[in-house]
Amino acid sequence: MDSLEQKIVGLIDAHREEIIAFAEDVAAHPEPGFYEERTAAKVAGFLRGLGQDVHTQLARTGVRGDWMEQDGPNVTIIGEMDAIGCRTHPMADSRTGAAHACGHHAQLAAMIGAALAFADEEVRASLSGSVSFFAVPAEEYIDADKRRSLKKEGIVFAGSGKSELIRTGAMDHTDIVLTTHVHMVPVEEDLYLGNPACNGYTAQRVTIRGKAAHAAIDPWDGVNALSIASSAIQMMGLMRETFREEDHVRLHNIVRKAGDVINSVPDEAVVETKVRAATLEAIRETQKKVDRAYDGAAYAFGGKVERELLQGYMPVIYRPADKVLKEAADDLKVCVRCVSSGDFNNACTDVGDLTHLFPVLNFTFSGFSGKLHGADFRISDPDKAYIIPAKMLALTTYKLLKNNALAAKKIVEEFTPVFGIRDYCSYIEKSCGQDAAGFL
Ligand SMILES: [Zn+2]
Repeated sequence: MDSLEQKIVGLIDAHREEIIAFAEDVAAHPEPGFYEERTAAKVAGFLRGLGQDVHTQLARTGVRGDWMEQDGPNVTIIGEMDAIGCRTHPMADSRTGAAHACGHHAQLAAMIGAALAFADEEVRASLSGSVSFFAVPAEEYIDADKRRSLKKEGIVFAGSGKSELIRTGAMDHTDIVLTTHVHMVPVEEDLYLGNPACNGYTAQRVTIRGKAAHAAIDPWDGVNALSIASSAIQMMGLMRETFREEDHVRLHNIVRKAGDVINSVPDEAVVETKVRAATLEAIRETQKKVDRAYDGAAYAFGGKVERELLQGYMPVIYRPADKVLKEAADDLKVCVRCVSSGDFNNACTDVGDLTHLFPVLNFTFSGFSGKLHGADFRISDPDKAYIIPAKMLALTTYKLLKNNALAAKKIVEEFTPVFGIRDYCSYIEKSCGQDAAGFL
């Protein structure tokens, strides 16, 4: 480590108690996606206190603190603010059922820990570029009803906080994104460096219209919407043999409604269907099969299908561990594993959308016990979950932007985005039907 790297580590160690207290306070006040008001105010107050230029209410609750005084590449450090619905978690909010069972509070602690290191003028003066600290809303799945009410409030890409931030221009200045999370695949080591490939998804809410009739007197005059729904789901089950292993398809349905009373033929059923797969093409192809299952079942019974397309997340594009991440982990002398091209995460995150636009340097960390999204999830080692990740974010950013930002410039030069920001927005609008603002 050079003297400034030692200083960065020392500054974070000096603020250890403050960083842990920050994390614990956020964990004690969990808030659901796009409604992280208290968390956002806390982050904004903290970053303002460090002298940053702070922007608030980005995509409703997002908070971005900037140190923009230097020309050169921008590194944007992301911390997710939302908690997950998990009513049985002992720290769940009794009103909303939200709990920090995905460790997003640890990301925020790491982000403000890194911000504390860059509050030092000497550290900041050594950078040839700018740094943004971005507390972002809504990483977890937002259900169809909630999306509708968000759209009424002007949130157009209501399925993902990061997507809405991209749409509204809040990431226009970003060149490189730095993300982190608790481990999402089974890893024993303290840190897992790089971004493993990861599924994307799309979803839809399907309303099946049948025709009501007395269930005993004249059922032959009815069209049974529940029968259409269950036939469609059965067909999807039989279609599973057409899913390729390498596409990692996961297909889930939940029945939201299947009739009103038992002595009438159900005239309306509502099913939410989610398709996950490893590529945008595999998602589209699987979605076509799902559509055929619904249409075929409706045709067979003489009913009708209405679809409300729900924006999903793009798959994460695999990115091996960058040299700067490996060097930062070496400096900290922690136990490390790097991603390999065969690693795969079947879950989804809207970090996938970012990987289609920006180079996203990512690492995940340990320090927790229990299951992700489970009632038993908790941080068991504050140093591994808050302090080491804070040092990793700060050291990586420093290594990217020191020496005339050579490392950052090389990463930006070598990166080819799949979409520009405008093309990305049009793709989502197109894949969600007429336009993403529809279905109000
Ligand atoms: Zn998460």
